[in-house]
Amino acid sequence: MTIEEILELVRPNIRTLKPYSTARDEFKGELGVFLDANESPYDTGWNRYPDPHQNKLKELVSKQKGIDSQCLFLGNGSDEAIDVLYRVFCVPSKDNVVAISPSYGMYTVTADINDIEVRTVLLNPDFSLPVDRLLTASDHRTKMMFLCSPNNPSGNTFDRDAILSLLKGFHGMVVLDEAYVDFCSGGSLKDLIPEYPNLVILQTCSKARGLAALRLGMAIADRNVIRLMSMVKYPYNISGVTQKIALEFLSRSVESEVAEIIRERGRLIRELAQFKFVRKVYPSEANFILIKVDDADGLYDYLTSREIIVRNRSKVPMCEGCLRITVGLEEENNQLLKHLKSYETCDIC
Ligand SMILES: *Cc1c(COP(=O)(O)O)cnc(C)c1O
Repeated sequence: MTIEEILELVRPNIRTLKPYSTARDEFKGELGVFLDANESPYDTGWNRYPDPHQNKLKELVSKQKGIDSQCLFLGNGSDEAIDVLYRVFCVPSKDNVVAISPSYGMYTVTADINDIEVRTVLLNPDFSLPVDRLLTASDHRTKMMFLCSPNNPSGNTFDRDAILSLLKGFHGMVVLDEAYVDFCSGGSLKDLIPEYPNLVILQTCSKARGLAALRLGMAIADRNVIRLMSMVKYPYNISGVTQKIALEFLSRSVESEVAEIIRERGRLIRELAQFKFVRKVYPSEANFILIKVDDADGLYDYLTSREIIVRNRSKVPMCEGCLRITVGLEEENNQLLKHLKSYETCDIC
């Protein structure tokens, strides 16, 4: 798709929107007597509005990820990026999106909140991408397609060629959620953005980066798409506290932590497969493992009562009998395994 074609997908009221201009937009210097934003003049450390464009933070992220900072949108979690994408592209009660299933629940919840129809398309039985069914599910009012790789909760990545077929064959935005990209061997598809301006990549500081409480996520896309998203967001969507702490923590290397989680993931996969009540351990390129067991609800309750909290996914399409287990510290994983052993040998469970 060309940029011109992408701009035609945008909601008419957003195409003509005149965004809010902050006091900091109208005067950009750092020094001076600031009497323009009705802030308190008393220094609390936090009395001034933060940078609405998060320039310093974007500069750091763009250097780390090797992308132009104009191709970067920062949000209050990737959840904000998802919501902003709906508000840029989808006319409520008229447009629709296509999303894979099973996958992350926020694509559907955010669509429901915005009154946008979601056409869910089941993955293939081996959890691979059903390219043809995704394309036939879309029509002339389908503005976006939501993919997630590595996918939550199945844990697998999708073939680059399958994603390329969708980027070429779908006349709309392909939103590829890479929340777990740091744990997978293939890496990000962000390098495709210059060639495919209909690609939006979502990443987050909530998982490998260890900053879930900060609420910082991002979209990487063509600068024209990012410009539209920035117009629609709240002016000060990333607080001064978040910007300050993110600048500090993003310089920290998480390489060894990610390596340790990947090692523990391998160990857990091998150990989990030994239990008689485990029917299937799905391969994982993320920091969690999906397993199919004889009695998911029973095992979930057993673990919960022993203060081991996992995610019961047994009511999710294609995940009947499944629990999703996050890879923890070695000691935490040992506790999980210990309780699974006692569950296996317990007659009255
Ligand atoms: C955890 C997760 C996120 C993270 O969302 P934030 O709002 O950035 O915390 C995004 N996508 C998927 C698929 C996830 O599992």
